[in-house]
Amino acid sequence: MFCFLGQQNHDEDVCISPSCSQENDAMSTADFGSETSATTSGRRFRVEWKNKFKWLDYSPTEDKVYCATCKTCDSMQLFSFSTKRDEAFTGVGYSNWKKAIQRFHSHESAFAHREAVMKVGHAARGTNVSSQLSSAKAKDMIHARDSLLQIASSLRYLCRQGLAVRGHTETESNFAQLLRLRGEDSESMNAWLTRTAYRWLSPAIQNELIENMAMAVQRVLQREIAECKYYSVMLDETSDISVLEQVSVCLRYVSRSLDVNESFLGFYETSSTTADILFRILQDTLVRFQLSFENCRGQCFDGAANLSGKLSGVQTKVHEIQPKALHVQYIVQVTH
Ligand SMILES: [Zn+2]
Repeated sequence: MFCFLGQQNHDEDVCISPSCSQENDAMSTADFGSETSATTSGRRFRVEWKNKFKWLDYSPTEDKVYCATCKTCDSMQLFSFSTKRDEAFTGVGYSNWKKAIQRFHSHESAFAHREAVMKVGHAARGTNVSSQLSSAKAKDMIHARDSLLQIASSLRYLCRQGLAVRGHTETESNFAQLLRLRGEDSESMNAWLTRTAYRWLSPAIQNELIENMAMAVQRVLQREIAECKYYSVMLDETSDISVLEQVSVCLRYVSRSLDVNESFLGFYETSSTTADILFRILQDTLVRFQLSFENCRGQCFDGAANLSGKLSGVQTKVHEIQPKALHVQYIVQVTH
């Protein structure tokens, strides 16, 4: 049975066993005497060491000392942070009196011993370290989740309004400025922006969030178009500011209440604008939206040779699959 007194500075003095003080007193007066028995080297355990290192637990029969705190922590299975215990003080016992003071100091400063002092101290006071840590972690999780939602809603606002997310510098971007503005009204966001750890604000995270939102919008469109059943496709090609060819794909469909809808499905970058490539882009888009050429009733292109050429253009390819897909050249309003 081990009893112990926590840290050296008495702040954490803890007694697990009701009888520990009696045992200690008995041991210090009856068993130790003023000095313990001498070892073969002539050195011996000194009682005054216990005054300085309260956790020392001397076994006169073995002539060894243990760490009462670490042993108690071990027996209560409270160790969870430390992976390396000090076996000399928790298992086999320590008896090298020549280097005793130096070794006691090193044990006292070891991470495992400090964990034991904390855990056993909390156990004696009836507080649960794990639950305290869990509570702090839960608060962190709530903070992180709220911040992520605010980051996502800020991106959604910028995309909804067609505003650029980035700027010439990161701090001057619309995204950073919007978050800073929201931080003025939200302490939680303000605290998040001043963090030094992860903040989920990098361009890669921005892209991922925007892609997720785009997928959600696509799923809604997909349901709407599927309900309308028939649709027309509209393709156009253009070069962006970096002279990369991009193909825009739009669908036009009429709802059951006879509302005409036009939905932009996306820009698709391509290195080539041959009819084959453009047709493959169209096919790929329709497959992603789970739409069949069976229900295609119109096609509208911009008049360029690649798109509307009778023989090699996309129109011909679409017509081969669905003859009912009426072709209209660049007058999208009449495809329905
Ligand atoms: Zn210890």
